[in-house]
Amino acid sequence: MGDKAVILLSGGLDSATTLAIAASQGYTCYALSFDYGQRHRCELAAAADIARAMRVAGHKTVGLGLDAIGGSALTDNRIDVPDHATVGIPVTYVPARNTVFLSIALGWAEVLGAQDIFIGVNAVDYSGYPDCRPEYIHAFEVMANLATRAGVEGRPVRIHTPLIDLSKADIIRQGTQLGVEYVRTISCYNPDADGRACGVCDSCRLRAAGFKAAGIDDPTHYQSG
Ligand code: ZN
Repeated sequence: MGDKAVILLSGGLDSATTLAIAASQGYTCYALSFDYGQRHRCELAAAADIARAMRVAGHKTVGLGLDAIGGSALTDNRIDVPDHATVGIPVTYVPARNTVFLSIALGWAEVLGAQDIFIGVNAVDYSGYPDCRPEYIHAFEVMANLATRAGVEGRPVRIHTPLIDLSKADIIRQGTQLGVEYVRTISCYNPDADGRACGVCDSCRLRAAGFKAAGIDDPTHYQSG
């Protein structure tokens, strides 16, 4: 058994690839998902399916209810998910989401005795989210080692971002080599009740362009076909 690692697993393409990378590096993987009031809640079924298929050592889904504060098209049904590219930080940005998620991951890592946390943030194809930048991740890591007993007692945590410099096509190529079954993943911000992708949101467009650029058949189930 390798060292334990906590992997944030949304059920999307990036986090499934991140899990495969952590496993390929020999970590014993504990996957962590969040039921945070997201409109694309069917991604949680995908996360559970991926966790099973990739034989993780443990998978937890933690309830957070970020819809109580809203402020995002993903957590407030009164704000529509855009069907076209927008300027600036998009309305699908969820206030403080990665800080909340990483904080829970940090707590679980401390309980498990894990010193490694993996998150599939990406600064290349990313949609303008401030909490996907390398400087943010570095600052969180510094904070984490001030905040925890493990950090104070000399067992510092490391935040791994294996996708941070990769294009979507690179991510898909790497994941395909590692055997990720992308048909199991859901990236869409606005899927229908059966989990079929809208094809027009930011996340769908990035994903479709990634498969095209990688020259790999897109296995996504779309609503129109
Ligand atoms: Zn979509």
